[in-house]
Amino acid sequence: MLVVMKPNATEGEIARVVEKIRALGLTPHTIPGAQRVAIGVTGNRGGIETTQFETMPGVADAIRVSQPFKLVSREVKAEDTVIDVGGVPLGGRALTVMAGPCSVESKEQILEAAHAVKAAGARFLRGGAFKPRTSPYEFQGLAEEGLKLLALAREETGLKIVTEVMDAETLPMVADYADVLQIGARNMQNFSLMKQLGQVRRPILLKRGPSATIKEWLMAAEYVVAGGNYQVALCERGIRTFETMTRNTLDLNAVPVLKALTHLPVIVDPSHGIGLRAHVAAMARAGIAAGADGIIVEVHPCPEKALSDGQQSLLPSEFEDLMKQVRVIAGAVGRTV
Ligand code: PEP
Ligand code: MN
Repeated sequence: MLVVMKPNATEGEIARVVEKIRALGLTPHTIPGAQRVAIGVTGNRGGIETTQFETMPGVADAIRVSQPFKLVSREVKAEDTVIDVGGVPLGGRALTVMAGPCSVESKEQILEAAHAVKAAGARFLRGGAFKPRTSPYEFQGLAEEGLKLLALAREETGLKIVTEVMDAETLPMVADYADVLQIGARNMQNFSLMKQLGQVRRPILLKRGPSATIKEWLMAAEYVVAGGNYQVALCERGIRTFETMTRNTLDLNAVPVLKALTHLPVIVDPSHGIGLRAHVAAMARAGIAAGADGIIVEVHPCPEKALSDGQQSLLPSEFEDLMKQVRVIAGAVGRTV
């Protein structure tokens, strides 16, 4: 349920609604809006009688939320969520551009990548220190050493750091270094991790599971938000289909569908989405044209030497060209970069 307060509701009236929700054994989630405050209610197994709220002073309306995902839905919050990452917006009118190598490999590699993507216009540096590899024999990441190198790159460039956290055990360490915690596709339905992320005061970039439906993905985001962390962005990174010519199938249908269903920012990952360097730029452009709030792109100073995902990593010069095109498309769809 959602309790919508009147635009002129007082602090006291809001507090009394919150108290009443708690007295019923339910959890209130106060959502400030441009016009008025709304209070999402979770924890109810059956239906709640809405009239008991409708009659309270300061309340405009009490409405049932029809979707199974509540707090992330547009029904509960009409305005787009813009996450403030230490002064850099994630979501909103200005497109969010995240770029960098798949894995942090060395000081030279990450610093070169960071300077290149910054010069091209990215404001976030991506790079994994803990890598979820399909084979146990493949490069698993530099762990804390990689996080330290990312922190060094942030110091040198001012870029914000996006890096993956794979488990609850390393969550406090990764959260110490990261500006945004990336949750990998393979972990999207790790519900105990989702609950832990609800307790963390760091923005989350939640990647879509390779076989997850949009509803399942939104329910995973709901776990994080219901746990108290409202700073969640979604990342479409391709789903598994019958097609074998491409690594995954970038589901651009998800972009407009998500923008209608949820207020959370939507980021597109064309690199994992198609998995082929020659076609990454086309899918990045398509993602922006479809209405995504940003892109996350793998860029490596020397892709043929990359320890992971070299086949889909752009050269710095290719990323620079892509950014020029992104600026043109951004203008056509009413966005800035
Ligand atoms: C990555 O971003 O390098 C990555 C492993 O992505 P995904 O979880 O989408 O496969
Ligand atoms: Mn990768």
